[in-house]
Amino acid sequence: MLSVVVPMYDEAEVLPLFVERLRPVLDGLEDGYELLAVDDGSKDATPVLLQAARRTWPQLRVLRLRANAGHQAAISAGLAAARGDWVVTLDADLQDPPEVIPEMLAAARAEGVDVVYGVRTDRSTDTVFKRRSAHLFYATMRVMGATGAPDNAGDYRLMSRATVDAVNALPEDHRVLRLVVPALGFPAATVGYAREERAAGTSKYPLAKMIRLSLDSITGFSSAPLRLATWFGLGGFLLAVGLLLYALVAKLVGHTVAGWTSTVVIVAAVGAVQLLCLGILGEYVGRVYSTLQRRPTYYVAHDSLTGASDTGSVAVSASASRTPTAAAGGGRGHTPDP
Ligand code: UDP
Ligand code: MG
Repeated sequence: MLSVVVPMYDEAEVLPLFVERLRPVLDGLEDGYELLAVDDGSKDATPVLLQAARRTWPQLRVLRLRANAGHQAAISAGLAAARGDWVVTLDADLQDPPEVIPEMLAAARAEGVDVVYGVRTDRSTDTVFKRRSAHLFYATMRVMGATGAPDNAGDYRLMSRATVDAVNALPEDHRVLRLVVPALGFPAATVGYAREERAAGTSKYPLAKMIRLSLDSITGFSSAPLRLATWFGLGGFLLAVGLLLYALVAKLVGHTVAGWTSTVVIVAAVGAVQLLCLGILGEYVGRVYSTLQRRPTYYVAHDSLTGASDTGSVAVSASASRTPTAAAGGGRGHTPDP
């Protein structure tokens, strides 16, 4: 069976178009499938439209999250719930054409691989800013050591059951899936496609979320920035030695002019470097802290498959489902989840 995981946040505008285009593709497959729509706490008509669509589409399964958890967390929720032997993740806005799914399945079977990445060969419909920032993102991540990630591969990919199980078992909370999956190093293939324009509605990825994703990517993949502080420190030390020598010579020669400008510049520069290093440290400490807290990144309110109603008692989450005791409601010996 194939599971198709689709995160949706306020996608009422595009949903009818999405359903219309996806359904023939999935119905045309030889395998059985489930479409797992993860409603990421939408505030518009998305849940209503999904319930309506379910009446005529038995394979549609709706996983409603209690609150907006974000794109990556919504996909993680879908991966944890998906039952398929193969799992595809794609966005709801039709930027990733669903017609590529059969190609991905065929590629996975023909080449015997675990992962098939959808790679955007043509991004001409994206804005210049989006393309530039994406290029910078992938280039930075390569420098940071996340080498396995194919360029221009977003979150449109096919994964085998083994891959999904491996991802679900990762202890990380703020997973950036497009880097985590390549880092597993499982055999992979790519399928190219042209990125289309968003069919309707507006982007749910404001700049702040893009920056958050980049920070999660960097701190999740590399401790190189921490080493930056060491290099700054070494550079500063050498500079200080040089300045000391200069000051001594100036003193001996008698050129002891009050150097106000140089003093201010040095103080400001040293202060800035210190703050930068503190900030870098803070990013990692924050990550360690939130991992220690084991606070779930999402809460499931309702799953149309199990019919579990919204009782508000037990929170099922990526981290909770890893340990059976925790799934029963806060078995870690401290405050249970509400
Ligand atoms: N999305 C989500 N939760 C969020 C933000 C986005 O589930 O908090 C979904 C959104 O509905 C879409 C996908 O993630 O299916 C990608 O978002 P979008 O297309 O707005 O991002 P962009 O393509 O502009 O980067
Ligand atoms: Mg999009």
